[in-house]
Amino acid sequence: MVHLPEKLLNGYRNFMAGRYASETSRYRTLADDGQTPETLMIACCDSRSAPETIFDAGPGELFVVRNVANLVPPYAPDGEYHATSSALEFAVQGLKVKNIVVMGHGRCGGIKSVLGPTHEPLSPGDFIGKWMSLLGPAAEAVSGNTMMTAGERQTALERISIRFSLANLRTFPCVDILEKKGRLNLYGAWFDISTGELWAMNPVTGDFERPRLD
Ligand SMILES: [Zn+2]
Repeated sequence: MVHLPEKLLNGYRNFMAGRYASETSRYRTLADDGQTPETLMIACCDSRSAPETIFDAGPGELFVVRNVANLVPPYAPDGEYHATSSALEFAVQGLKVKNIVVMGHGRCGGIKSVLGPTHEPLSPGDFIGKWMSLLGPAAEAVSGNTMMTAGERQTALERISIRFSLANLRTFPCVDILEKKGRLNLYGAWFDISTGELWAMNPVTGDFERPRLD
C-alpha cells in the first residue's frame, strides 16, 4: 500500500540517492548540533517561489516561514493563534538570526485576489479574505488606480506589500530593538517568476533594484 503520492516518493528516492548521499555528514552535524541559520525568510506559499531553490540554500541555511502573499501581521499579543508571529519569535529570540528577508514574487495569487474583480470566498471561513485585509488601504488605493494597467497594479501592490510587511516587522519590540542595536538586518526582495529576475529593495528609498551579481 502506498501512503504517499508516487511522485513524492520518487522525489524522495532521488533525494536520498543524490543530495542526502552527498551531504550526509552535514545532515548528521545539523542533527547533533542543532540548526544555526542566519536568515529568516518570509515568503509566499506559491509553489513557484521556493526560497531554498532560488537562493540555492542547503540544509540548515534558511529558516523559512511561508504564508499567503508573504505578509507579516502587526505585533498583536492578544492570545490568538499567530503562526507567522510565532515563527518570527523563534527565529529572532531562539535562533538569533542576523537577517530577515521578506520576499514577494510576481503573479502572486494572494495579491491578485485583493485587486479584483471581487470573487466569492473560497470557503465560508474566507480565511484568505481576512488575511489579505491586512493590506487594507494600500490594496484599495492601488486597485482604484485607473492610470495603471492591471499588470502594473499587480506588481505595485506586490512591492508595496513587502514594504508594508517590513514596517509591521518593526512593530515587534524584539525586532525593533535588535535592529537599532545593529544585530538584525531587514531586507525586502521580489522574485519575477517568468524571468528568474531577483529584485532587492533599496533600504533608503524603498525602490526595487537589480542587485549586481559580478
Ligand atoms: Zn504569492
